[in-house]
Amino acid sequence: MTHPTACHCCGFRATGIGIATKTGNQWLCPDCAKLARRIATIKRLDPLEQMAIDGGIEAANKFMSANGADLSKYNEENARMMIKAIWTGCAERMRAIIGAGA
Ligand SMILES: [Zn+2]
Repeated sequence: MTHPTACHCCGFRATGIGIATKTGNQWLCPDCAKLARRIATIKRLDPLEQMAIDGGIEAANKFMSANGADLSKYNEENARMMIKAIWTGCAERMRAIIGAGA
């Protein structure tokens, strides 16, 4: 890997750890690299991505319960933190699904 790229599984920044697929090397972030063997055997991520969105929804609900539901009242930092919570929620759910043997 010679330039920054997104993790094949969760979309966070990938590191130099990857898996070989039919379409070439797919890079993984450190957390997903722990599940590299399982990720390498998964043929399609789309249904799993749909399931992972539930983790993002839960993270959004939790964040908005603590900070209010009106996004127009968020300052930039809070808006960024909410998106980070959603992204992290999706990524953690994806890893949990794959880790459970999807
Ligand atoms: Zn990842």
